[in-house]
Amino acid sequence: MIRTLVCVENALWRDSVDLVGAARRFAGKEANEAYAFTLNLDDRDAEAAIDNVFDMVIRARDDRICSYDAPGVACCVERLYEEYGFDCVFFPASAFGRILAPQTAARLQCALCADVVKIERKEDAGSAALGVHFIRPVFDAKMFAAVCGNGKPVMASIRAGLFQYEGTNEGTKKALVRVWTPPSPPPESAGLKLLSVRKKAETCDIREKDLLIAVGAGAARYFEEARKLAVSLDGAAAASRKLVDSGVADRSIQVGQSGKTVSPRVYIALGIRGSAQHIAGLQNVGCLVAVNTDRDAPLCALADMVAVSDAAAFIREMKNRMENVNPVQSFDRAKPKHSFHEAVPKPHL
Ligand SMILES: Cc1cc2nc3c(=O)[nH]c(=O)nc-3n(C[C@H](O)[C@H](O)[C@H](O)COP(=O)(O)OP(=O)(O)OC[C@H]3O[C@@H](n4cnc5c(N)ncnc54)[C@H](O)[C@@H]3O)c2cc1C
Repeated sequence: MIRTLVCVENALWRDSVDLVGAARRFAGKEANEAYAFTLNLDDRDAEAAIDNVFDMVIRARDDRICSYDAPGVACCVERLYEEYGFDCVFFPASAFGRILAPQTAARLQCALCADVVKIERKEDAGSAALGVHFIRPVFDAKMFAAVCGNGKPVMASIRAGLFQYEGTNEGTKKALVRVWTPPSPPPESAGLKLLSVRKKAETCDIREKDLLIAVGAGAARYFEEARKLAVSLDGAAAASRKLVDSGVADRSIQVGQSGKTVSPRVYIALGIRGSAQHIAGLQNVGCLVAVNTDRDAPLCALADMVAVSDAAAFIREMKNRMENVNPVQSFDRAKPKHSFHEAVPKPHL
């Protein structure tokens, strides 16, 4: 029986819930139980979503530990590990997860694989841990490394949006819920207190969109036009880091190694060269369209379609042609997605 613990981050509970997909992937064909640990979670939607996909939820409420208090939370995870002996522990690779995961690994004296984007399994490896390779970007995402989990527990922080779990417990069983009180005296905490919560302005999450029109430095002047076109097609604008750094686009829509990882059905890249760091943010894109004046730009070699064109002319043409058609509808959901590192034939338009 493979037991996995997922540490839920309250503000990012959707990303945390998706990690149950990573837990099932880690276990492969072996019998498995996915546990969620929540601390001071006050969100009914989050609780319902967690109950629907996990086998067991360990719910802790303790005013002495703030949910962003990494030493305090790490200590809770250590105590839970002593009790349950989890085979692996997963964290979202968020800003907080990147602080919490190493602190927890240090307490448990185990290795940590950070920033995982993929989990590969060898079913004949004997034990689940030995048969698992965690894939993570290295050298500024110029390469990907396969890291083998060894020892117990196997610990990893995992990028958001890559392991959505389709199954639910709905109609069969809900998660068992254990209300757990962290032991007294309270775990070592950093003495953090949450004084106030400022609500972020509602912006759309590019990870949830089926169509993204991404703009790079080569099309910076046409960002607003591209954004409007994307919105009119029920999609959203995304951007390369160069565009974000130049102040044209907001950081929340940056795709890539230091931005978001996206898996849209259609990704149209306008004036984006295709640096390794940008490509690191493209996973399981259904159809990748590169629009570039330079047909030798690296992104063109990976694209399903290449338009050797000026971005402005492409936007104009697209507006003319797409007035009544949503391009997303013309790609069949059942079509197997290819991964960004598989070269595909590229018809030149
Ligand atoms: C640690 C680190 C992390 C990074 N993280 C990220 C990240 O998360 N995301 C990211 O994107 N980058 C990231 N970068 C930066 C990355 O290395 C590149 O600098 C960046 O992606 C380049 O952006 P670009 O393709 O928009 O611009 P450029 O490299 O300038 O490319 C512009 C492209 O536009 C084309 N072009 C020019 N004019 C036109 C036109 N009129 N019409 C159509 N095409 C035209 C050009 O041929 C060229 O291919 C990171 C770098 C480092 C070191």
